[in-house]
Amino acid sequence: MSAPKPSPLRVAVIGAGPSGFYATDALLKQRESVSIDLFDRLPTPYGLVRYGVAPDHQKLKSVTKLYERTCSDPRVRFLGNVEFGKDLTHEDVRRHYHAVVYTVGAPSDRQLGIPGEEKSGCLSATEFVAWYNGHPDYAGLEVPLDAESVAVVGVGNVAVDVARVLSKAVDELAGTDMADYAIEQLRESRVKDVTMLGRRGPAEAKFTTKELRELGELANADIVVLPEELEVSEDSMKAIEGDATRLKNLEVLREMAAKPLEGKPRRLHIRFCVSPKEVLGGQRIEAVELERNRLEATQSGTIQSVGTGAFETLPAGLLLRSVGYRGTALPGVPFDARRNVIPNDRGHVLEAAGGAPLPGEYVAGWIKRGPTGVIGTNKADAMETVEQLLSDDLPAVDAADASPAAVDQLLHKRGVHPFGFEHWLALDKYEQEAGTSAGRPRVKVTAVEEMLRFAEAEAEA
Ligand SMILES: Cc1cc2nc3c(=O)[nH]c(=O)nc-3n(C[C@H](O)[C@H](O)[C@H](O)COP(=O)(O)OP(=O)(O)OC[C@H]3O[C@@H](n4cnc5c(N)ncnc54)[C@H](O)[C@@H]3O)c2cc1C
Repeated sequence: MSAPKPSPLRVAVIGAGPSGFYATDALLKQRESVSIDLFDRLPTPYGLVRYGVAPDHQKLKSVTKLYERTCSDPRVRFLGNVEFGKDLTHEDVRRHYHAVVYTVGAPSDRQLGIPGEEKSGCLSATEFVAWYNGHPDYAGLEVPLDAESVAVVGVGNVAVDVARVLSKAVDELAGTDMADYAIEQLRESRVKDVTMLGRRGPAEAKFTTKELRELGELANADIVVLPEELEVSEDSMKAIEGDATRLKNLEVLREMAAKPLEGKPRRLHIRFCVSPKEVLGGQRIEAVELERNRLEATQSGTIQSVGTGAFETLPAGLLLRSVGYRGTALPGVPFDARRNVIPNDRGHVLEAAGGAPLPGEYVAGWIKRGPTGVIGTNKADAMETVEQLLSDDLPAVDAADASPAAVDQLLHKRGVHPFGFEHWLALDKYEQEAGTSAGRPRVKVTAVEEMLRFAEAEAEA
């Protein structure tokens, strides 16, 4: 039997994206006497809902209404503008909280590992997405939109998002909450051809059918799919047996391949069985060398690509790699560098992969299971973690340290000024009001200093 829980149970949740909010919500629902501090390194909450989900998919962002409700509970404090590892250390959370839940997401990306990818004009989709969504860290990114051809490496939903954004007419995006500077720069875009590159075949592509279909319905771009790249082997068909999404994708791709071009201003190509092997050009990318692949079934039945030795050159003045987000280590917290996650057993942090559990330390979301799944996937994931937390014996904490005031003092002493939820609500209102006159959901503030003024304004009032 586990020992009685401290009352109130003090929990630090590190990262205010979907998994941070779902973990907070699960704690509130399952325990009356709880006091939660929800931290984020940015003044703004909501993680990738604000800075990842595409601006032309606005409806999905309404999930933040639920998160807003979570934060209106008096047992929760939002402390934005506090970075774990810098403003608040591992030692601090162990001293001031009975438990900590890391929900920091997977902010980095994977490299292609090919010669020439350091050339200018080669970016990650992670950076490009953060740039057009107004993430403060990426507002100054240089995106060479003078390129007429763009290669997007990958055929997952993030690749679909960036290919769609680059293919749309700017007026289709100007009514969204895309960052103003991105709208301005996309207005000058000279992009004519966007080519998505899949290493394996159409049956293996990871995009979902709704997102794929949308690419075939763009007002500003013809879709180009080569019929010869849609041939699917018996092994591939066997591997996707019963997978409704993949089977439907094949159907949609065949319809796309049969569709005549309508002479729209841009073309969006979806290619399969090709791998980028080298980025060509001088200081700046001019083209990508592609190798054609054939597919082979492994002994376990999964389909892998194998180079054929046949090459082609795809002109490209901009390359966006979209081959996966990647978790990074937090100072003082165990990290599994092979899987790029915090090692855990159903959300309980382990001292190393396969090692002993660390008392009072938990993890949820992308940094727990890797960068897969939609917003809702993080709910069940966070609930599993909270179940572990509430069933464990938690370390004792000195009563004087376990108070919100003790954390306030600590941050104050370090010159750290948390951005509270009331400050966020003021900023949110300002952004939405700025959007109203322009018929947009909001006009985003993209500089941290400007965001922080909403806290200063209140302090001066
Ligand atoms: C481009 C893109 C488009 C997507 N589109 C969709 C979609 O259309 N529909 C859908 O359902 N899902 C979509 N997703 C998936 C969805 O966004 C994720 O499932 C979800 O955001 C993961 O939640 P998370 O809380 O684990 O991570 P995140 O959302 O990344 O949140 C992590 C939070 O932790 C904070 N943080 C990081 N480090 C620290 C630190 N050291 N200290 C304090 N705070 C820190 C970050 O600032 C961030 O706010 C998309 C993802 C991407 C990348």
